[in-house]
Amino acid sequence: MPMSYRRLSFKKILLVIMSIIVLASFQGCGRGTSPEKPVDVIEEANNNETEENEDDETETAPLKPKFTCPMDGEGIDEMPVRPVAVTIDNYKGARPQSGLDKADLVYEVPVEGGITRYLAIFFHGKTDIIGPVRSARPYLIDISREWNAVYIHAGQSPQAQTYFKNTSVAHINEMFHPSGFWRDKSRRAPHNLYSSTDNLWREIEKLGLDKNSVPEGFEFRNEGEALKGAAAAELLIPYSYGKVGYSYDAQTEEYKRFLNGNPYNDLTSGVQLSAANVIVQQVSVRAFDSEGRLEVDLIGEGKAWLFSEGRVQEGTWRKDTVTERTWFYDESGAQMRLKTGQTWIQLVPRKVQVSYK
Ligand SMILES: [Zn+2]
Repeated sequence: MPMSYRRLSFKKILLVIMSIIVLASFQGCGRGTSPEKPVDVIEEANNNETEENEDDETETAPLKPKFTCPMDGEGIDEMPVRPVAVTIDNYKGARPQSGLDKADLVYEVPVEGGITRYLAIFFHGKTDIIGPVRSARPYLIDISREWNAVYIHAGQSPQAQTYFKNTSVAHINEMFHPSGFWRDKSRRAPHNLYSSTDNLWREIEKLGLDKNSVPEGFEFRNEGEALKGAAAAELLIPYSYGKVGYSYDAQTEEYKRFLNGNPYNDLTSGVQLSAANVIVQQVSVRAFDSEGRLEVDLIGEGKAWLFSEGRVQEGTWRKDTVTERTWFYDESGAQMRLKTGQTWIQLVPRKVQVSYK
């Protein structure tokens, strides 16, 4: 023991005082690999120093994101390829849903039977689980087309079938392309079909639908720029299936979502759904077949309300052709400016009396 201790301290002294030539001469003495070890230690020490210096630099000058997401205004380092629009079931047996909190933008749209369906649009948003996925309706296809998104659904109404036959639509029907989807056995079919954004992108690439298509974005308010409008901390939309409520939380600066007075949580994350902006778009709706299936007028114009940061701005929506976007304007005719974050667009039939305070 004393011998090895002495040898170690001798080596240390050499390391600090002597040059590499001295170390090399040690190697010449046939002392095996031991003299090389201190050299490695020196190199490691140098590497650590460099890493520390780099950390210091990133701390003092944080990198600004390269792009702004056109759908939610978030800073992003990479521009995604194309939006993906997923049809989400909102039947009682389908609630609570999974993955809506991860979408860039969510539409709630009336369907037959007094219920609604969601169209969750993912652009820079990603989720390991989204669903339950349900069948297509013509006006849901219309909304997907205005974003030039890849439309995701499981089956379709007879009218949507005719639509697909007559019009070239980028879409994936689970019935013909089931490999990107799975069924959750713990839930009752048909309210148990799920996918993920990674799975959907694998299918999109396989089918050659990965065409670059970055949508024109909404306008977003600058930091500290307040929305001009009356105070509106509470919003109530009494759809026939239930009362959808939004309540402004000044701490998070978002509207928390409720159904019949109860918090509306995501099944997977357990987090209450919330929105930086809620847009109410008043639409004309007609039932036209024995099943009560609807026609929803999306082309034309109508009333719209933007709820953001505890205030409401009244205005209008306008859409000129099926592939063009729906734009929202304030009373002066300027585009409504949104708060950065997730937006929910609520399509509300005229007969539903929306109230706020
Ligand atoms: Zn985004």
